Amino acid sequence: MKLSIILVLLVTVEQILSSPARRVEPVAIETYLNKARAVLDRVPLIDGHNDFAMSLRDYARNQVGDLDINDLTALEPWASSPSSHTDINRLRQGKIGAQFWSAYVGCTTQYKDAVSKTWEQIDVIHRMVEANPTTFEFVTSAQGIEDAFAQGKIGSLIGVEGGHSIDSSLAVLRMMYDMGVRYMTMTHSCATPWADNSQVDNPGGVAVHDGLTPFGKTVVAEMNRLGMLLDLSHVSRKTMRDALETSTAPVIFSHSSAYALCNNTRNVPDDILQLVALNGGIVMVNFFPSFVTCSSTATVQDVANHMDHIRNVAGVDHIGIGADYNGITEVPVGLKDVSEYPNLFAELIARGWAETDLEKIAGLNLLRVLRGAESVRDQMAVTGVKPFDEWIPQADLPAESLPCSTGQTKNEQSSPQ
Ligand SMILES: [Zn+2]
Repeated sequence: MKLSIILVLLVTVEQILSSPARRVEPVAIETYLNKARAVLDRVPLIDGHNDFAMSLRDYARNQVGDLDINDLTALEPWASSPSSHTDINRLRQGKIGAQFWSAYVGCTTQYKDAVSKTWEQIDVIHRMVEANPTTFEFVTSAQGIEDAFAQGKIGSLIGVEGGHSIDSSLAVLRMMYDMGVRYMTMTHSCATPWADNSQVDNPGGVAVHDGLTPFGKTVVAEMNRLGMLLDLSHVSRKTMRDALETSTAPVIFSHSSAYALCNNTRNVPDDILQLVALNGGIVMVNFFPSFVTCSSTATVQDVANHMDHIRNVAGVDHIGIGADYNGITEVPVGLKDVSEYPNLFAELIARGWAETDLEKIAGLNLLRVLRGAESVRDQMAVTGVKPFDEWIPQADLPAESLPCSTGQTKNEQSSPQ
């Protein structure tokens, strides 16, 4: 048969298959979806960042005693909120295996009540987990994630989003670890007294510290010693570099995408992606259209493009998922809430990704990274590294921090009578 005839036949077949009368596509999509769901039955899907606890604060003042979070699709203000993407029913549909719940308080709390408000967010996550024991299991380790998954429960971890939450205190950092916090995002949208945030990389931005200060490097060392993951989402490029140079454990970006595809400074540039590969860490891809397409709209295909890009630059071992649900105001078509994660896996299967690679990006990569941080912690304990207990130099604290501080001198004025 001549090539032209074959082409004509192929085109005709294509027209028949895609005609409304005989659609083959949905069948293929269903096949891909079934394969995707099978992957997520085998390995836990671990999402790096969900702001549901922020909505508990904003919509319920953390008064969750009588709040039924199984179905929030008809309950106001959740029902009509553009940032309400999470409830138990939808988590189950989306086949989530483990979730880092974000303990986030905004930068306006810095030097004021950041620490107490962060404790309130850590507390509400614990209470949400305890109130739903057949769904959630509070976990603090890679093994804990696997054990919860084996029991059909959603392993629940805490990430503190923003270094301002520790008020430059290594003691607070340690106590947060003890309450189950397993990552800290080094900054949010403000510099801390020891680290620069991503906004300094915007046009006209001016670095406060040029990355991490010496005390910031001590924060990194203490996190390594504790076994708490460093999260480099939200930090400046120089902070990323300094942290990657300083950390002896693999790091994460809990909710960032690829800068090469959307030049938002919340995303990760290619040179940093290569360093993440050397470090053994992962970039957990964010679904927010502003970071995916640099616009207000995106599709599941656009998100998959970020996966393809990071795989090309860093390798498949360095990709995860950190959708940022409940923190974002727009969502991609095909990924409207936590129920739709399988669509992303189906898209990657359609692109020819191997199922073993899908298992990695779903959760095996994060488990490897968390195990890496745990083994650095264990090695530092064996070699006798003690808790880093210096205070931040007074000179590192900006003037705006002083009104709410009693300083670092002795309590002589207030000695008991
Ligand atoms: Zn964030």
